[in-house]
Amino acid sequence: MRMVFIGPPGAGKGTQAERLIEKYKLAHLSTGDMLRAARDAKTEVGKKADEYMSSGQLVPDEIIVAIIAERLAQPDCEGGYLLDGFPRTIAQAEALDQMLAEKKTPLDVVLELQVPEDELFTRLAGRGRADDTPEVIRQRLVAYREQTRPLLEYYGKKGLLKSIDGLGTIEEIFERTVIVLDEVAS
Ligand code: AMP
Repeated sequence: MRMVFIGPPGAGKGTQAERLIEKYKLAHLSTGDMLRAARDAKTEVGKKADEYMSSGQLVPDEIIVAIIAERLAQPDCEGGYLLDGFPRTIAQAEALDQMLAEKKTPLDVVLELQVPEDELFTRLAGRGRADDTPEVIRQRLVAYREQTRPLLEYYGKKGLLKSIDGLGTIEEIFERTVIVLDEVAS
């Protein structure tokens, strides 16, 4: 299964992604994790990305698309993958479509984890990560609203979008997701 996981920061995507990759034996492709690793390793890409990440802005599309192209070419992706945090802009989605069309491996499903914005702010503020100051949180939510949310319509039109209610316990949300994915896979 080739899947994209979309949701605002704080929706619980990472937690659900961990469980989904285990159940469906997928490679986990998190651009946030890749960028944090590059930043910690102090590579050129990592240093450049940090300028954007530290203020809650999106890293430029060219950087992200290059990272994903390289990652998708690795053999573990052949058995299916979950894209977590990518694409986040229409330009990234179009670049992904083009890459997958060339490989003749289209997406099977795009999952959206839905959580209301006031709930997100509370969750993110409570998480207390160093990059989660109120101003940065606000900027990340704005980036989601303005740059990523248009993807819902983009994938909706392609008939790929499935939305999941992201309120409830981790277990409840996981079960809702499994019902949807089992339908897609059948
Ligand atoms: P995440 O852990 O997915 O919330 O990502 C952390 C930060 O990495 C984001 O706030 C962005 O600055 C950057 N980032 C991750 N994925 C992308 C992407 N697909 N496009 C642009 N920036 C990204």
